[in-house]
Amino acid sequence: MWDSQRIADLVRGELTGDSQVRASGCCIDSRGVKAGEIFFALVGERTDGHDYIEGAWQKGASVVIGEKERLEHRREVRVPEGKALIRVESGLAAMQTLAQAWRKELGAKVVAITGSNGKTTTKDMVAAVLSEKYRTHKNLENQNNELGLPMTILKATENTEVLILEMGMRGLGQIAFLCDIACPDIGVITNIGTTHMELLGSQEAIARAKWELIEALPETGSAVLNGEDEWSVKQAEHDSHRTFFYGLEGRFHEPDLRGRSLTPFGTLGTCFQAEMGHGDRSLVPLGEKQAASSVTVRLPLPGEHNVLDALAALSVGVLLNVSLEEGCRGLAAMELSRMRLELQPGPGGSTLISDVYNANPTSMKASLQVLKERGGESTLAILGEMYELGQSCRAGHYEVGQTVADLGISELITVGPLAEEIARGALEKGLSPQRIHSFPEREGAIKKARELLAGLNQGTWVLIKASRGMKMEEVTRALRKD
Ligand code: ATP
Ligand code: MG
Repeated sequence: MWDSQRIADLVRGELTGDSQVRASGCCIDSRGVKAGEIFFALVGERTDGHDYIEGAWQKGASVVIGEKERLEHRREVRVPEGKALIRVESGLAAMQTLAQAWRKELGAKVVAITGSNGKTTTKDMVAAVLSEKYRTHKNLENQNNELGLPMTILKATENTEVLILEMGMRGLGQIAFLCDIACPDIGVITNIGTTHMELLGSQEAIARAKWELIEALPETGSAVLNGEDEWSVKQAEHDSHRTFFYGLEGRFHEPDLRGRSLTPFGTLGTCFQAEMGHGDRSLVPLGEKQAASSVTVRLPLPGEHNVLDALAALSVGVLLNVSLEEGCRGLAAMELSRMRLELQPGPGGSTLISDVYNANPTSMKASLQVLKERGGESTLAILGEMYELGQSCRAGHYEVGQTVADLGISELITVGPLAEEIARGALEKGLSPQRIHSFPEREGAIKKARELLAGLNQGTWVLIKASRGMKMEEVTRALRKD
């Protein structure tokens, strides 16, 4: 991609060694360095990349970027022949600068995805849809911050046609910062929920922070928005960018792409119809006309929330001239390696849905819907505390309880003092007190669950969910039938 002199110029660093050696890519762990890559020596919490510079060269890195101050305090680094060392003030800032420059050189379209829930899922689905037609590159797993995003960009190759980037945030200005590096052409906001309430204070502030993505789009850019999301609809009213709304039938007056007729299929899949609204919305000139305006999608994932994420992905496809047929082919073949909802066999012929990775009110409600959809008349929800909700902590827990009652979940077990508010919400919404069981600790909950499952139907479905810190995987482990 670039020679070392060009890299040094871009990051305003001091170059020693070979000024013409070419380098591309990006690596921060010397064990994973590939030939010809740029190794960034970063200072982490436990390790200091500057200790591994020689190792990186040995593994094949051609250029090492290290921090001046760190390098001054150690013995002289000898740059091997045919290699280069570039000294900068900050390794991370240098990486961000290079990523920004590389993005500008790439001919690729950039799709950026943010939102309170479903970013990673949507990112993977967008990649599945677009890969039917384009050479795509996306962030690994959850690499969505000021480090993961530039790393992802630097790993894109010259023949990447679409770059798909998840953008996470914990405060105002962070999405704007990431957009400054990535310059997205299409921005997707999955939803504007209550995650990070603690940090941002109000839902309005959260909406503003997410909207930084849309504000960063060029005039010709498009916003792909969830038509069911009140805040997105509200924000869009004051925005001049082209918008493309998606949603489920009957929820929003006029989505451009609509989902309907959802039915369970396979163990955890959902079959639905995806239907174009009116008009043609593709961004690139149409080679062939959008062949069909309605297709049947066989999504290997459960729940309405995944259908919404799939509709977002198909919408991005439409904007980039990927037909609905092509898009749904991509979705049907999606890899499920990293599925957040894990299925396990439980006691007494039950099925456990272990969703212990994280939780907030929105994702809790989504998972409860999956539970009801699969378990029907025989369901048990084991729900623990949700963190980081700030002032909406009580209300958030309470609302989840209301959803438990509204959906007609058969039995509810709550874990932890904060989760007692879930129990209260369910009780006040009409779930019978005999069906509500609250425990301060996991142990009591496990014992109760075993007892209930011994008495319930063979085909009971059980949802286990809470914030990461609740360690609910211990509950799954205890209930799993080995
Ligand atoms: P993170 O902030 O950790 O990066 P994320 O936004 O990338 O999270 P995912 O990892 O895709 O989100 O999904 C996390 C959970 O959110 C899923 O297990 C699911 O329960 C829920 N979820 C996914 N999509 C949606 C959606 N559109 N609406 C509500 N909840 C969703
Ligand atoms: Mg994510």
